[in-house]
Amino acid sequence: MGSFVVSARKYRPSSFGTVVGQKNITSTLKNAIKNDHLAQSFLFCGPRGVGKTSCARILAKTVNCFNIADSENIEACNECESCKSFNDGHSLNIYELDAASNNSVDGIRSLVDQVRLAPQIGNRKIYIIDEVHMLSQQAFNAFLKTLEEPPEHAMFILATTEKHKIIPTILSRCQIFNFSRISVADIVSQLERISKSESIEAEPRALHAIAQQSDGAMRDALSMFDQIVGFAGNKMTYEHVIENLNLLNEEYFFKTATAIYEHNVSAGLLIFDEILKKGFDAQHFIVGLGNHFRNLLISQDPKTIHLIETADNIKKQYYEQSKLYNDVLIIHILNALSKCDVNYRSSKNQRLHVELCLIFITKSDLVEKKNDKPQITTIQETVSTPPKPAPNSPSPAINQETPPPPTAPPPQFDSLDPSSGPHGVTDSEKKRNQILKAVSSPSKSAGSKLKGTISIADIMAKKAQEDDAKKDEPIMPFTQEEFLTAWHASILKYKDGGKINLYNTLTKKNPVVDANFNFEIEINNSVQEESITVEKLELLAELRIKLKNHKINLITIVTESKDEYRPYTTLDKFKKMAVKNPKMIELHKRIDLDINN
Ligand SMILES: [Zn+2]
Repeated sequence: MGSFVVSARKYRPSSFGTVVGQKNITSTLKNAIKNDHLAQSFLFCGPRGVGKTSCARILAKTVNCFNIADSENIEACNECESCKSFNDGHSLNIYELDAASNNSVDGIRSLVDQVRLAPQIGNRKIYIIDEVHMLSQQAFNAFLKTLEEPPEHAMFILATTEKHKIIPTILSRCQIFNFSRISVADIVSQLERISKSESIEAEPRALHAIAQQSDGAMRDALSMFDQIVGFAGNKMTYEHVIENLNLLNEEYFFKTATAIYEHNVSAGLLIFDEILKKGFDAQHFIVGLGNHFRNLLISQDPKTIHLIETADNIKKQYYEQSKLYNDVLIIHILNALSKCDVNYRSSKNQRLHVELCLIFITKSDLVEKKNDKPQITTIQETVSTPPKPAPNSPSPAINQETPPPPTAPPPQFDSLDPSSGPHGVTDSEKKRNQILKAVSSPSKSAGSKLKGTISIADIMAKKAQEDDAKKDEPIMPFTQEEFLTAWHASILKYKDGGKINLYNTLTKKNPVVDANFNFEIEINNSVQEESITVEKLELLAELRIKLKNHKINLITIVTESKDEYRPYTTLDKFKKMAVKNPKMIELHKRIDLDINN
């Protein structure tokens, strides 16, 4: 029985040509060898597992190869005496020191002593110091002199993952090469090569999942690959990978996005519950869902679809799902997910925090779906559709039962050329024109669109109120004055906490409590509504405790502002400016201004 050699060693690159993902560096080194312009000290920086030590060894072997002058390709011949001794690991011309385990001044002194001796065969002695940032200050000092004036036959290759820890005196004496993380595509194609030579049948999606998980480090990717092969044998599927690496199946996100599109709150909550039961963190889900919507957004344009690092058939799945969504709604959802992520750690009930966010994005265009009329609170209205769509104008799909046929044919998924097809241009032009059209003819009133909207927080607060009534919660009477004192004390934190807009909305008018302990807050745009939604439950809880009355409830009233159109968001302000000065639209077009928030 032959002994198993891990892939990271078995497939370690042995020539410049087989180094993965560092083409700039290998070709610079090859050119330097060819022109005999090789420096004597190098610093290889970059994350772990990207090929720094491999490149150092290849460089050592190549400069010592007897036949290098005849090599057209500047690659070691692997046949001469020197190459053979390198390949067998017996070469005396290479000296490796791991500064992580040997960082004392003695280690460096013995290295410095060796440097004086010329090589017996070959013409260069190469000293590789790995993790050089771990050397002690004394060791650095002992080394400095040698590094400054090395004997002609000596070459130093220092490698580090933490360049910022290297003292400037060392940096200035070395030629620095920055190794980058290896791209997912490069890792996938290397894994494909290895699968082929090991006769392993691996699904492209499985290899993509490994590559994504490796964070640009080939060594990590290969260890994971070995681990999964050990489990799955010679047929590797995506399920094998997610099971072994404990990843969240992408299908969950596709299903959640479908539930959101269908306004199916229970489906979304059940998916989330299933994920939690599998032992995944709730925040993991939110981040993953954010990434999913990011992929949907970039799938909408053939020019950006190649930015999704996944197998071609999954890209197609993203493209299909992205047709359900209007880009502005996706941005709205991304925004909500990002807020949820940011506030996750500080939330006391993290599960509820995520569930609320899910409910919020699932229900955000509830009313429009019900009435089938374009009157809605979500932001996409204000950007892409005028209130009454003209018969000929193509209106975004999201609010209709069936998506309109796509105007562009599906992009070619096997071609990753970003400039492929003229349709992408037409499409994005069209979108831009729609935005500009909306911009140049602003809707009459942002407030009017909010009319009749049921906010999720309203539903939640009402439910909380009902639940509370069932229990023996105190319902103490209080005066309007007492209420106002409690109210102002409760909202002061928004002023101090930098939420000035919210504070201003809440202090615009002193709220009046009615006989049923309800009070009203007037709002007139979606941003205000959103910010109140976020704070409402906490604010109510505080008031109820302060006034010892658990029936207190806040109702948001959307005022139909008949007075002048009042800009609130950046986009609103831009629209207003554009009406006064149409040149603003030209400016928007030219500098590709981002005004979506
Ligand atoms: Zn050779």
